[in-house]
Amino acid sequence: MRLNEIEVQHYRNYDGLTLDFPKTLNIFLGENAQGKTNLLESIYVLAMTRSHRTSNEKELVHWDSDSARISGVIEKKTGTVPLEIIISNKGRKTKVNHIEQKRLSSYIGQLNVILFAPEDLSLVKGSPQLRRKFIDMELGQVNPIYLYDLVQYQSVLKQRNQYLKQLAEKKQSDLVYLDILTEQLAEFGGKVLFARLEFIKKLEHWANLLHKKISHEKEELAIDYFSSIPLDKENFSLEEIQKQLLQSLLDSRKRELFKANTFLGPHRDDLIFNVNGQNVQTYGSQGQQRTTALSVKLAEIDLMYSETGEYPVLLLDDVMSELDNERQLHLLETIEGKVQTFLTTTSLDHLNNKLTVEPDIFYVHQGEIEREA
Ligand code: ATP
Ligand code: MG
Repeated sequence: MRLNEIEVQHYRNYDGLTLDFPKTLNIFLGENAQGKTNLLESIYVLAMTRSHRTSNEKELVHWDSDSARISGVIEKKTGTVPLEIIISNKGRKTKVNHIEQKRLSSYIGQLNVILFAPEDLSLVKGSPQLRRKFIDMELGQVNPIYLYDLVQYQSVLKQRNQYLKQLAEKKQSDLVYLDILTEQLAEFGGKVLFARLEFIKKLEHWANLLHKKISHEKEELAIDYFSSIPLDKENFSLEEIQKQLLQSLLDSRKRELFKANTFLGPHRDDLIFNVNGQNVQTYGSQGQQRTTALSVKLAEIDLMYSETGEYPVLLLDDVMSELDNERQLHLLETIEGKVQTFLTTTSLDHLNNKLTVEPDIFYVHQGEIEREA
């Protein structure tokens, strides 16, 4: 898929902007603090309705304005689709084909994006929360029902934790209501777990192929889903997972009541990356950790293609300067020609002599963008 054009109004430091993208590779060149990341962020928001940098929507709207608007035209095998999102203090309004969408899951997935920023290189080393967010974002794009189940899960989890607190404070004593919430939690949590296990299996397949290539066939990458409940990760069905989650929650009831918290379930899980059988987070060199992060990120391109029949749009924010020469070449080789890419950089030095396709170069300066003639 491609993003053919974008229009941005009152977004961050952009007053108004219209750009079209006939080329596959689009390079945004500019000094620091000019608006390069803001532009990539606007494409990300058009796809995901949320920013990757902040959960405070107010930040996205230009300081002198009350609302921001981003619209774009997506080209897919099935035709072109206009998308639009308006962000204001009243919330977000999304439109597909000029028709307002009430459900997040009917909007997300129209435009698939993969964003790669320097902080993604810490996917391996960073906190478990970072890896859970990674799964949720990527899986949510290829499987909108996952997003729906996740939102339900989080909402029941919140209610249940509140109720556990009320029980601990003796403001409530009805354990039947806790049973109802526990069953609901196991129902949605099981769905979330099931989708994640399937996703990780596929991700592992594609990531390992890339990792082997980057490491010159010296290293194998395995990804393990670390679950807070016992699971058979080879043979699993949705019903079995839901049953297991329910049982684990019931088994830990005493501790839950004592701690007034739910400490089992997908909100506590993690990913483990193993290179040649060793945990790369603990034992890997910095280079191995970077190769792993790069392989996992790039694997999503192939995974999305195999799931949806379309390549996603790739957003590369300042990552070239963070990679060594060989990894830069691998990155460019993976994308060139087939994946529409938006790349930001402060200098073309890292790209010289490495590109095999002719890019469009855009100069970014104080919230204005000009295409190189
Ligand atoms: P770097 O190379 O350092 O990453 P960049 O070009 O990616 O720089 P951006 O993060 O895109 O920079 O833009 C940062 C600028 O945008 C900041 O200097 C800030 O003043 C401005 N900015 C951020 N949010 C808003 C907003 N809501 N309204 C107006 N300007 C904003
Ligand atoms: Mg930036």
